[in-house]
Order: sequence, then structure tokens, then C-alpha cells
Amino acid sequence: MNEEIDVKVTPEERPLWPPLEHSAVQIPPQHMPIPSPQGAPLSHGVEYELPFELQQQGWKKFWSKRENRPYFWNKLTGESLWEMPMVKPQPHFDPITDPLGICAPPPPAPVIPVVHMPNTSVPVPVAKRRASEEIGGPQVKKFVLAGPWDLDVPTNVIILERAPCSYMHSHPEVEAYRCSLLAKLRQCYQELCHSRESIDAPKDSFNRWLMERKVIDTGYDPLLPSNCYPEVSLSMYKEIMNDIPIKLVRPKFTGDARKQLSRYAEAAKKIMESRNAEAESRKVVKWNVDETFQWLRKTVGATYDDFQDRLAHLKQQCQPHLTETVKASVEGICLKIYNLSVEYAKKVKEKSNAILKEHGMELPPPMSMHTTRKVWCYPVQFAIGCPRLPVVEYLPDRDQALLRFQGDTLVINSTHLQKLEHLYRHSCFDDRKFELFIPRVWVMLKRYATFLGLNPSSNNANSDVQDTQQSLPVTVFECLNRTFGVTFECFASPLNCYFKQFCSAFADCDSYFGSRGSFLQLKAVSGSFEAHPPYSEELMEASVNHMERLLGDSPEPLSFVVLMPDYREPTPSALERLESSQFKRKQVTIPAFEHEFRHGFQHVLNKSELNVRSVHGTVIVWLQNSAGHQRWEPSEDRVQALLEAFRPGRERERDRQELLSPTRQGSTSDSKDVLVH
Ligand code: SAH
Repeated sequence: MNEEIDVKVTPEERPLWPPLEHSAVQIPPQHMPIPSPQGAPLSHGVEYELPFELQQQGWKKFWSKRENRPYFWNKLTGESLWEMPMVKPQPHFDPITDPLGICAPPPPAPVIPVVHMPNTSVPVPVAKRRASEEIGGPQVKKFVLAGPWDLDVPTNVIILERAPCSYMHSHPEVEAYRCSLLAKLRQCYQELCHSRESIDAPKDSFNRWLMERKVIDTGYDPLLPSNCYPEVSLSMYKEIMNDIPIKLVRPKFTGDARKQLSRYAEAAKKIMESRNAEAESRKVVKWNVDETFQWLRKTVGATYDDFQDRLAHLKQQCQPHLTETVKASVEGICLKIYNLSVEYAKKVKEKSNAILKEHGMELPPPMSMHTTRKVWCYPVQFAIGCPRLPVVEYLPDRDQALLRFQGDTLVINSTHLQKLEHLYRHSCFDDRKFELFIPRVWVMLKRYATFLGLNPSSNNANSDVQDTQQSLPVTVFECLNRTFGVTFECFASPLNCYFKQFCSAFADCDSYFGSRGSFLQLKAVSGSFEAHPPYSEELMEASVNHMERLLGDSPEPLSFVVLMPDYREPTPSALERLESSQFKRKQVTIPAFEHEFRHGFQHVLNKSELNVRSVHGTVIVWLQNSAGHQRWEPSEDRVQALLEAFRPGRERERDRQELLSPTRQGSTSDSKDVLVH
């Protein structure tokens, strides 16, 4: 028995990562956390004896003075529990020694298909990995993590082996440069819209442009589009055009409706006078504008609807001529932005190569792999090694931590940083000592902040861009896992994922935290997926096409629970495409305001701001092949369980329950849930 010092830190508050002496991070002494080798408990309590089998599996028992009760900590896996752990019936999947979980002997379950470990020819049976609750019977909630995620759910996803990615490893200097160029590009877009079309760049359209470009981009930069065809983005073109001659908004009062009508007429006239318009177009627009002004002058007591009708009429008459007149100029903006992006991507590549050269390395050419070899779905791997990384400062604060590189400070909640640490432990295999952890977190945070166009000097909580990062409530994920065997998110980030296996927008900087790369590149053969794509028509449509291809190609059980906002514009929309899929087994809609999401900036907000009511309806569609349908059928009772998990307030209820009784599983584990067999 070891007498230790003091019990101040419970497992949830455990240190974030191991020995600081190994770390590339510099921490001012006043911010120094208590060092703790390999994440061992800091709760300096008394160590108690345990049954031999549990000790063999790495378990130790400690006394928490604060809680006045024992707890259990596993030195091999870093898990901690309030309850006595169960002796595992079989060797547990160890992310360190067996990252793909394929070395452990199979359980007595029937062995069906065969998969291969990447880069080996040894076939291994597939059926040995099962959902966590199936392995040891119902287990107590593990207190590995203060947050609500279940990073213990192993994947049930099998994919075709793929080539390692040819991106450079995360590097703060390269990222700072890349992000400064992307910010410049965003600024340039605003200036072009302003100077050429006298409008503001349509809100968030730059973000949608990035997502649309990334659907077709085959270039070498993970962020900046650099090889797209066509070069002119239809989504950017349409969004600019939609705001010409002015951006129309629904007026609040009659006075606003009147003002908007006259502003439209004025702006339309100005365009025709200042541009090189066809004589016929000029004539039509002038005539309609003059007529509108006359009507405005002579009409007294017109109603809100009169003004709106008049505007609709004027727009109908003028818009085709306006479009024709500004077409070349709008295309010019799209082209200019794309070409600048190509140029910037080239500059980033040069910088990357310069840094790599110092280490005797260079960027590899893109690799492709045509294989039919099936493997457990593992995180994206790099083709080249990681160069030495510069120091990123780590400044822990009360509930948040600050990460600073060259004066650029990024914030993250401590619970999310702790989550990242766990994801990293599970998915990153080239940095066991966590020396590169903080620089890699900084790069990932920087990437998302820049991708979303966040303004470092303002509170971005109300920004609409958070919509693209909103996630389902934890209760819904728990239910999806339990009732439909879901173990994988097709659309996520390390910050908003619930499972430790997911696809994300950035294969490079997210891979250390478990990303399997872009969903559009995932060649899934079997497994149960949840897909909640960000709102980008092009990405959503491409995703449905991709799912259909996968479902059509695989005879093995494959299932997607797809969630999309109930938007039916433009027609045909990606949602309509989804609804008409031949693989659709079931569809339900949850009305607006009758469900919630977790805020897209959950990693920086405090708990009270976390749950936001959905302002749109959400459509849920089950796409499954026959085997997938047999295994994860959306039966009435299962669908009901899911709808129940969506009820507003469920996540908060669950949180309260967890506080009252931390060992209990999430509150959705009640009798209403229908387990997958
Ligand atoms: N994982 C949560 C949140 C989804 S929000 C859930 O399932 O509810 C959508 C996420 O998809 C965002 O984090 C966005 O960055 C990510 N994303 C964007 N493009 C992607 C792509 N091509 N592949 C996978 N994820 C992508």
C-alpha cells in the first residue's frame, strides 16, 4: 500500500497529459499542473489491493478523500471508474499496442467475413470487435472523461484499405501562414463584391464556397482549393447574383417595404447606367424603373402587400436583364477568388517544402491505392514523418486553457482539451510521449477558427457559422449507438464528435484525434453510421450519392441514419435526393423548435449556452442495404426511442442524473430503448 500526499483531484479532474519534461510545451511556473507520469491519478490517495486478475489487467485501487470512497484506475488504459471493474473475459483492445484492435483473439461469436490489417497480408476475423456493451455485459459508465462523450465505443466499420495521405504533418508555422492567406482571401472576396457589385459579400457564402470546392477539389492543400473543375463555382456565382442589385430581406413594416422597393429600383437603374448593357436590356429596365417611381409618387396609402407585389413584379421584369449585364463581372469575382486560392496553395506548398527540406524530407506525390483488402476503419496515416515542431505555449486557466503560438492565442474549454487528449491517446501512434500534442491541438483549433472565419476579437457565439458545426445531443448519440448499433459519425470534427471514430473536413490536422478523412473518400464496406452533414447543398448531395454507391456495392450490413435540415430550396434539393433514394427504409421529421442541438462552438462556450433549439425541422432518413436493414431495422419502437432521445431538455436531464449518480449510464438507458441484437 502506498501512502500518497493529498486528495484534491478526482478522476474527472485528472491531469490532461503526461510528463511535462517530455513535452514540447513551455508552461510558466504559475500555471504548472502537477506532473503526472502517463496520466496517473493525481489524487494522491491510498492505493489498495485488488484481485490478482484485475491487477494483471492494469487496475489499481485508490481512495478519494474528497469523495470519501474508493475509485479504480487502470495504468495501462488510463481509464478510471468509481465501481470495481469487471475482469475482462478476453484481452481488451489496447489502442497503444494494438491500434487497429486486430491482434486480440476473437471472442466466441461466429466469425463471418475476413479483413486484413493494413500493410500486412494476415487475414483476421471480423466478428471479434463488438459494441462495448456487448463485450462485458452492461458496464458502469466509465469516468475516463469529464465530458459526456463515449470514447470507448469501438468501431464496427470496415473499409477498403487506402493509401496514406500525402499532406504534411501539422506544423504551427505552416498553419499560421496558410490561415493568414485564407483570411486574406476572405477579405479579398468582400472587397471585390463591394467594389464591383456594390454589395457586401453574401453572409457566410465564402464558407459555403469552401465546402462546395472541397467536394470537387483534388489539389494538394488541405484547406485552400487548388484543383477544381469547373473553376467558377456555381454556388458562389448564384449567391452573389442573388444579392444583385441589392440583398432583399423580408421587411418588418410597411415603411421598410416601401424603402426596399425604391432601393431596388434605384440600384437596378444604376447598374444599367454604369455597365455595358445591351440596348434592349437598358430600355426594359429603365421603363420598369420609371414606372415604379411614378407609381410610388402617385400612390397614397399603399399597403405592405402592395409594395411587396410591386417589388416582385419589378424583379420579375428586370432580373433577367440585370443578370445578363453583370454575368461576366460576377464570374470574374468567382474566378479571381479561385485563382488566388490556387496561388496561395502554391505558396503554402513552397513553405512546407522549405521546412521539410531542413529536415531532409520533401512532400510526397499523391498516392492512390486500388485494393479490395478490407480493414478496420483506422485513422488517416501520413506518408512522411513529422518534422520537429516549434514551441506552443500552454496556459491553463480555470475552466479553459489558452494555447499561444507567436502571439496568436486560441482558447479551448478544459473538458474539450481533456477529450482531445483521450482521442489522441486512442488514435495517434507517432507521439506516445505527447510531445507534439499541444502544437497539434493549436493547429487544429487554428484551422477551424479560420475555416469558420471567426473573429478573434469578438464573441462569435451568435454567429451563424456555428450552424455548420452543430451536433446532435449526447442522448441522441447514446440512443443511436444502443438501438441502431451506430459507432461512427460521417461528419464531425475532433471538437464535436461523440465517437472516437469519425470523418471530418481535414484529414491532416484531425487525424491525430481520430479522423478518417473526408466522408466522400471513405470506402465503407460495412458498419452502422450516423450522417449529419453541414449545410452545403453540394456536399449533402455528393454525400447521398456516395452512400448510395457504397450501399449498392456491398452485400455486407451497411446502414446510414442521415439527418438533414428540412429545406426544400433550391429545387431539386439534396434533401429531395435523399428522400427519393432506392435504399430508403424509413423517414421521420422532427418539427422546428421541438428538438435541440449542441452549439457549434461547444468547445469554448460554458455549459449553460450549450443547448440551442433548432429553428428548422430535421428530417431523419434511414438508408440501408438488405443486410443492414436486417441487422439495424428502423422498427417502430426503435424510431420512437430515437424521437424520445431528441426531446428538448433530455441532455440537461441526463447531465443532472449524471451529477446525482455518476455511475449510472446516460438517462436514455431506460427501458424505452430497444437494444440492437
Ligand atoms: N458530429 C456532429 C456534428 C456534425 S456538424 C453530428 O454528427 O451531429 C458537421 C461537421 O462535418 C462539421 O464539423 C464539419 O466541419 C464536418 N465536415 C465538413 N466537410 C466534411 C467532409 N467532407 N467529411 C466529413 N466531415 C465534414
